[in-house]
Amino acid sequence: MIPQWWLDVLVEGLSGHDLRRWPDEVGSPGEIEYVITLKPEPNSLSNYPNLRAIFSTAAGIDHFIFDKTLPKGVPICRFSHPELASRMSEYILLNILRFHRQLPAYQEQQKAKLWKPLQQKAAQDVTVGVMGIGNLGLDSAQKLLSVGFNVRGWSRTPKIAQGIECFHGQAQLEGFLAGADYLACFLPLTPETKGILNARAFSSLPQGAVIINVGRGACIVEKDLLDGLSTGSIGAAVLDVFETEPLPPEHPFWVHPNILITPHISTVTHPRMLVPNIQDNIARIESGRPPTNVVDATRGY
Ligand code: NAP
Repeated sequence: MIPQWWLDVLVEGLSGHDLRRWPDEVGSPGEIEYVITLKPEPNSLSNYPNLRAIFSTAAGIDHFIFDKTLPKGVPICRFSHPELASRMSEYILLNILRFHRQLPAYQEQQKAKLWKPLQQKAAQDVTVGVMGIGNLGLDSAQKLLSVGFNVRGWSRTPKIAQGIECFHGQAQLEGFLAGADYLACFLPLTPETKGILNARAFSSLPQGAVIINVGRGACIVEKDLLDGLSTGSIGAAVLDVFETEPLPPEHPFWVHPNILITPHISTVTHPRMLVPNIQDNIARIESGRPPTNVVDATRGY
């Protein structure tokens, strides 16, 4: 359910357009040229003959790729905005620094009223691996670099990013993982990334590595993660995304002492970020130019 304040911001920002709310205000489907949506109901967009673009309100678009009822040939524009990336970087920095400065251990010591300074590694002796150095991952990688961590990135295609050791493709995955004391996953869900964080990948990581997943839940094989945590090969996991959301109450992740769960909030879209993005893309389409951030269905993101 979209909150009213959210709609109000969108309606005010796009006041120059005839905005209709689905499903009650749609009217004749032939009059609809653009759709703004997070996740359309299956089959709900198949009858719009004059649709020119679909604007996603989020960066993750796997549900669009898997929905075979969407009209063919209509561009789907995923959402990208610098603020979306900075909010995500806050989450990544917060969680990595929390472990780096050993706050979970100090919290345990506090319960026992134990005053005991722990040995502290320097950031320069710690490596963070960023899986997916696109719009979101690159911002986090650069900010982690500015704190002093060693940062390495992994992507599908080769990349050059100042100060970041770049790896790409399946052949370089093991080498990338081998040095990552922290692994932050920003991967989209595609047939190639589904289950990519499995027992084999975990065995390539340094002993006790901490995993942070903000990409998609199904990138991780959940049972393999639980096994890795129970043997100590994985030290801890911070999970913002899950194979099933909301995470079912009986799921073992909820009660695991070394898993921190957040409800898919590592970054969120504010409607004020959407408005210029949508306006710009409509203007581009109306003037015969291609819209930006179009999903490439063949690569799956
Ligand atoms: P993006 O700009 O498209 O970046 C995706 C990155 O993943 C790129 O670096 C891409 O490689 C890499 N990648 C994709 N498939 C790969 C593969 N098979 N092997 C290696 N690398 C691969 O996307 P983004 O805007 O950063 O968003 C990333 C994902 O974050 C979204 O798809 C969504 O799932 C997730 N997300 C989560 C939240 C949340 O609140 N938890 C919010 C927004 C987004 P190339 O650079 O070579 O293309």
